[in-house]
Amino acid sequence: MTVPSPSPAFWLGVLLRQFPELNRELAPSRTARPATDRTPRSGMPPSAPIRLFVSDTIRDITDGVVELEEAACDRLRLPRPPRGTVEQRLLRLLALTDRGITTDPLLADHVRAEARRMARRCALALGDAETPVRVRGRCPHCDSVSLRVFPHRETVLCINPGCRCATPSCACTTDDRHRHAWPRDQWQQLTEKITADLAELTAAQDDEEGSAR
Ligand SMILES: [Zn+2]
Ligand SMILES: [Zn+2]
Repeated sequence: MTVPSPSPAFWLGVLLRQFPELNRELAPSRTARPATDRTPRSGMPPSAPIRLFVSDTIRDITDGVVELEEAACDRLRLPRPPRGTVEQRLLRLLALTDRGITTDPLLADHVRAEARRMARRCALALGDAETPVRVRGRCPHCDSVSLRVFPHRETVLCINPGCRCATPSCACTTDDRHRHAWPRDQWQQLTEKITADLAELTAAQDDEEGSAR
């Protein structure tokens, strides 16, 4: 399936539109956070783990955009760019697409690929409507039927708020808002433990990928 790929400017523009939405997405949780930490765990809003995806994404994109602008300036033999917000940097990158990026195929490819990756990540984090898919088998840590796969985010979470794994440094133990998570590269290991089928996890993902197109 070969689809003509949109220009680097297209993806930079998408990112520029989406990025501010991430911050808006995060805002309600900040104001809704209780002043004390005395809220019982069971009172956690179910969307708390999702918010962590959003804050991770903001961090990833902030770093990614800085690196991308610096790489572009370096390649175009321009001075190192001044500091700026993500939006300012994206606007400067957009201005650079007409001033050299598009005439340098290697650089154009790099900018397009990175901007596309970040725009996609942004869209996934914003996809709060994403329906987690229930995974058969019990959580290896708390033995509850509480595993869900979030196909877009390529993560399996144990949604039991009381679940803690055996690793003291794991975020599920150190941060009340965090649920134990298995990123994509740990799925194989996980399915061996819970005697579920890896295909079940990836099938959920394929479904989502298909419907996203
Ligand atoms: Zn668990
Ligand atoms: Zn853990």
